[in-house]
Amino acid sequence: MKKLGQHFLVDYLLLDRLVEYGQIIEKDVVLEVGAGTGELTSRLAEKAGRVIAVEIDEKLVEEASRKLSKYNNVELINGDILKVKHKIRGFNKVVSNPPYQISTKLMHWLILSLPERIVLTLQKDFAQKITSPPGSKKYVYTSFLANLLYKCKIIEDVPRTLFKPMPRVDSAVILMERIEEQVTPGEEELKLVKILFTQKMKKLRNTLKTVSERLQLSFKEIEEVLSEELLNERVYRIQPHKLYECAEKVIRLTKVRGYVDTL
Ligand code: SAH
Repeated sequence: MKKLGQHFLVDYLLLDRLVEYGQIIEKDVVLEVGAGTGELTSRLAEKAGRVIAVEIDEKLVEEASRKLSKYNNVELINGDILKVKHKIRGFNKVVSNPPYQISTKLMHWLILSLPERIVLTLQKDFAQKITSPPGSKKYVYTSFLANLLYKCKIIEDVPRTLFKPMPRVDSAVILMERIEEQVTPGEEELKLVKILFTQKMKKLRNTLKTVSERLQLSFKEIEEVLSEELLNERVYRIQPHKLYECAEKVIRLTKVRGYVDTL
């Protein structure tokens, strides 16, 4: 079924390496998205304390549960990850070969769940977006979010020939390690950054001018709390923590305003 992105990794040594990159130990609770027939799941179950594996296709779940019956540390969930995600908690690592058509949504949710370590095979193009630095044409909101909270790198290229059936795109394995000192980002701040990215080639000054009204702020108020240098920079060229800091300052202004309004 093409729309489910069912391309199975048939290079077992690569599956072993995915587990190695995850540095899985007994205390780990590992999430796997798109368990397929359970080839990667069983390898994870050998090392982890617990594995939460999600698979949408009922037939594959049946096949996987037969393969995984000897493990008592696997929780196999039949469902669409985007629908069941709110029920999934407590994992500290992610290792999977997920379906590519949900990459962006999946990535946003995974990042905001803040696991310590994420190892994924992704479409090469998407993996390059995640690892591209600010200022690069490929740098998008997802790159910002990933790089704000994680150290991201491509650790292996995966040719399409290692999947069955063979997909039309090449893949890459990405490793994301959480940056410890970074605090959990706020919802409103992220929403603002996402809006800024819809005009990412413009100077921050101009994108903020267009959103100031939506925030019920005058641009003058915003201008006062940000440096001239930052305002003159183009959104996609700003370092992630700097851009987040800017969003914090602007959101703080809306809060102060709200407070005054309620007086
Ligand atoms: N991990 C396996 C399979 C990868 S293929 C392997 O490496 O061999 C991707 C898998 O994700 C398929 O089994 C597909 O059925 C499943 N899938 C597709 N959409 C999904 C979704 N929304 N939620 C959960 N699983 C999904």
